[in-house]
Amino acid sequence: MVFNIAIVGSGPAGFYAADALLRSGIPVQVDMFDRLPVPFGLVRHGVAPDHQKLKSVTAVFEQIADHRNFSFVGNLDVGRDVRVSQLQAAYHGVVLATGAMSDRPLGILGEELSGSVSATELVGWYNGHPDFRDKSFDFSHPSAIVIGNGNVALDVCRVLAKSADELRRSDICEHALEALAASKITDIYVIGRRGPAQAKFTGKELREFGDLEEAQPFVDPAELQLDEASTAEIASSPSASKNLEILRGFAQRQETPAKRKRIHFRFLLAPSSIQGKGTVERVEFETLRLSGQAGSQTTSATGERVLIPAHLVVRSVGYRGTSISGVPFDERSATVLQQEGRVIDGHGNPVPGLYVAGWIKRGPSGIIGTNRACAIDTIDSLLADLKTTECDVRDISRELFFASLRGRSVKLIDFQGWRRIDALERANGAAKAKPREKLTRVAAMLKASEQSLA
Ligand code: NAP
Repeated sequence: MVFNIAIVGSGPAGFYAADALLRSGIPVQVDMFDRLPVPFGLVRHGVAPDHQKLKSVTAVFEQIADHRNFSFVGNLDVGRDVRVSQLQAAYHGVVLATGAMSDRPLGILGEELSGSVSATELVGWYNGHPDFRDKSFDFSHPSAIVIGNGNVALDVCRVLAKSADELRRSDICEHALEALAASKITDIYVIGRRGPAQAKFTGKELREFGDLEEAQPFVDPAELQLDEASTAEIASSPSASKNLEILRGFAQRQETPAKRKRIHFRFLLAPSSIQGKGTVERVEFETLRLSGQAGSQTTSATGERVLIPAHLVVRSVGYRGTSISGVPFDERSATVLQQEGRVIDGHGNPVPGLYVAGWIKRGPSGIIGTNRACAIDTIDSLLADLKTTECDVRDISRELFFASLRGRSVKLIDFQGWRRIDALERANGAAKAKPREKLTRVAAMLKASEQSLA
């Protein structure tokens, strides 16, 4: 007997879950569903366009997809086109790996003003996510603010700071390249609400700012002065210590007048309001101080306020998971309720046959590889349950489930269809000396999935 398992979401957690199942030694058929016609989730639509090396993990995912017991089912929105309960009825196990598709709000006055945008929107737009394709951003003013001190904030800042020539070598989408090439932004402020010792970004990403064609980093040495507790934190964190070393290097650099863009790293500033008449004109910050023991310092306001003028504010303060219809969800952490990867109801009882992996399980943290261990843990639980529960408790067969889909107007895309899209994107990219030129509209993806390149 073959166990049929559905995976919802084709990002890293979904593919690592598929891999764990296919390597488990038990007979399985894995069907991976995605609401878009194209796979790879955040690797395609989240990883920065100039970080091609990080995207090379898709070669691993392609190999997983080559397994004869694997199917990709693109262009099917689980929750909208089919309910999770329909999958549960047809599969021995359903693994939700939908990631964190939304963003955390700041909850301050003026957040809704035009020109105040989330990193989710901006990143989705320059990476060609169909949901964000038609967004527009105003790059016509000299100053922009990026709020947050994580790696996404650095990605956004770098894309805003790079020259058109630098961006042209990446797989940034044409519409975004065109808009950014005309950008008038000269000053980008990257704002952390805590100090340099507590920044969440990593050295490899931070170091890149020392090496940009037309932008240079600025740090006020006074903001790198550490209190005793932060000094102790740095001493026990190689990552924080590397960040500090790089920031100190930036602080000592001589200004290069030929570089027309400046990136200002600022710390201990908490946004209190975004201000302007209809559109963003400035952001008000309160300056903070740290106090307490190393590792558990808290911030308090000093009473001083700082105004930074800007017409673009990018809120990059973390992604947020979105609930899936019919699945128990904790609004506070924006994750699915779970224990060891088993979805649980509000009373703590496991929901039979329903599992969760990746960011929608544990929140938006870690690097791509972190999702491998996370998915393996979930699949361990699923495999243990398959051994102990009755073997075939499904209401309908997988075949019947697909037959029910064929009766609708939904056009499903298989991995061959994706390969045709991929081939076209690579060919379009090669013509411009880029790794790929992505299709950014679902209709174009569907069309390309049917056509082979001559
Ligand atoms: P993150 O690493 O959690 O950083 C979020 C940042 O937002 C933190 O600096 C946080 O400050 C700040 N923040 C939160 N609420 C705030 C508020 N109300 N006001 C001001 N600042 C606030 O999230 P992320 O940057 O979105 O990254 C998500 C994950 O993807 C991370 O694990 C990241 O490493 C990973 N990623 C990796 C790469 C890469 O490897 N190159 C690239 C992109 C993303 P506090 O620390 O004070 O909370």
